[in-house]
Amino acid sequence: MLLISPPAAKPCEPPAGVAKLAGALNARGISCTVLDANLEGLLSLMLKPQTASDTWTRRAVKNISSNLAALRDPRTYLNPDHYNRAVRDVNRVLEASIREFHAILGLADYHHQQLSPVRSSDLMFAAEHPEENPFYDFFKIRLPEILEKTFSQPPIISFGGRQERPSTVLRAGSGHPSGFVGISLNYLSQALTTFAMIGFIRREFPGLKIVLGGGLVTSWMKSPVWKNPFGGLVDRLIAGPGEGPLLELLGVKGIGHDHVTPDYGSLPREEYLSPGYILPYSGSSGCYWNRCSFCPETAEDNPYVPVPPELAMTDLGSLIAKTDPVLVHLLDNAISPAFMHALANEPPGVPWYGFARIGKELTDGDYCRQLKRSGCRMLKLGLESGDQGILDRLQKGTDLQTASLVLKNLHAAGIAAYVYLLFGTPAETISEARKTLEFVVAHGDAITFLNLAIFNMPVCGHEAREYETGHFYEGDLSLYAAFKHPHGWDRRAVRRFLDIEFKKHPAVSVILNNDPPIFTSNHAAFFSRS
Ligand code: SF4
Repeated sequence: MLLISPPAAKPCEPPAGVAKLAGALNARGISCTVLDANLEGLLSLMLKPQTASDTWTRRAVKNISSNLAALRDPRTYLNPDHYNRAVRDVNRVLEASIREFHAILGLADYHHQQLSPVRSSDLMFAAEHPEENPFYDFFKIRLPEILEKTFSQPPIISFGGRQERPSTVLRAGSGHPSGFVGISLNYLSQALTTFAMIGFIRREFPGLKIVLGGGLVTSWMKSPVWKNPFGGLVDRLIAGPGEGPLLELLGVKGIGHDHVTPDYGSLPREEYLSPGYILPYSGSSGCYWNRCSFCPETAEDNPYVPVPPELAMTDLGSLIAKTDPVLVHLLDNAISPAFMHALANEPPGVPWYGFARIGKELTDGDYCRQLKRSGCRMLKLGLESGDQGILDRLQKGTDLQTASLVLKNLHAAGIAAYVYLLFGTPAETISEARKTLEFVVAHGDAITFLNLAIFNMPVCGHEAREYETGHFYEGDLSLYAAFKHPHGWDRRAVRRFLDIEFKKHPAVSVILNNDPPIFTSNHAAFFSRS
């Protein structure tokens, strides 16, 4: 089987989804190859020869190798100006590399000026015209090469001491290789290129079966109006964790929620744009709180499945020994108190960061210091609002006194706080938004980084039915419903408030300036020296 992580997403750490699938397949003796087409595709565009018509682009193209080296060098992260310049120059090269396409590409984004990733007809168009995709020159060479390598040796499955070649894999395809290609589609910025690659594989390798899963596919399939528009193009779509369904496809049954240790072994180690290897790890899927009204996890009713903390610690120990990371990125929607205690009691020996809920554990200053000693470099905290009424309406389960104490404790312990705020929720008006501003100003010393988001109404949440206007604002695969704000506090008004009032406040602008451009929270822990 070939597993692919498609472009475009931030190329700073290996893709966790395909590593988990690889772990599940390898544990059952099913050979698979993993392709980080995102990293390879972006690098191929950055490094291709190109001419430039303006001074900035000329300089950026000329310095691309030294800027890539700088982003992989820890010393660059001691000098934010140097880092910022290198990031912006690399991004500039990417933008320029596809100027003949009607699209915009950067280190964290890809969007087409005419084709939408949430319109199934546009995705089908991308599949029918793969040569119109900016990554075509990359994948038209790389895919045949890796498919040849992957499928020239029929895989052997071993289980129960027996070794077999499953008939599903060996089905002959008139001279074409047969087998499975799995693609992990997580972000909208990956969708158009994913379908261009699928179209190419379909055309050139008709004997292969294509399986599509990942976070974005899960969200699409959980929509109340979901009807599969990709029949005939994609053989199987998978919602939720893909390990069990994939193994079933390959003839291994009864996997359920069996624990899987990710396998990063076939992904590159040195080429990601970070000052060393970042090891991503999920101690759970879903969310143990699962109540916030604005959250897709709640709206999609994704089940909470934790890895038992002792198993997670064993995983981390073995993955750290194998990959020698400089940072562990915990991908949990919210690190559970039990997992956090395990990390505090048994430091993994490498700095780590991730999302945590603002809860009573962190009101204990000694415990925060213990976390710091365990390597906790930064916690991402969904505060959302500085108004208690809004937090209650959002069913956030947070009270502002606790939030205040947690921020002070983390600051005193030397743990950076990356605080997420959400504006424009149905109950909010400008008065509540101003309370959020007041809260941030009052805690400015303890907030290291800020993320400001404007509310989107999840299409499958119960509130969508209450407020929606009946039209999806972009396409049949839109994850969000158009909604009319009950108090007129719409996106335009919120944006104006953020630009004119919120971001201009000196206490806020100083925090916003800390944020690493483009890579934001993925690189923030490297700048959080306390
Ligand atoms: S804590 Fe975070 S992930 Fe969990 S339901 Fe709330 S917003 Fe969603």
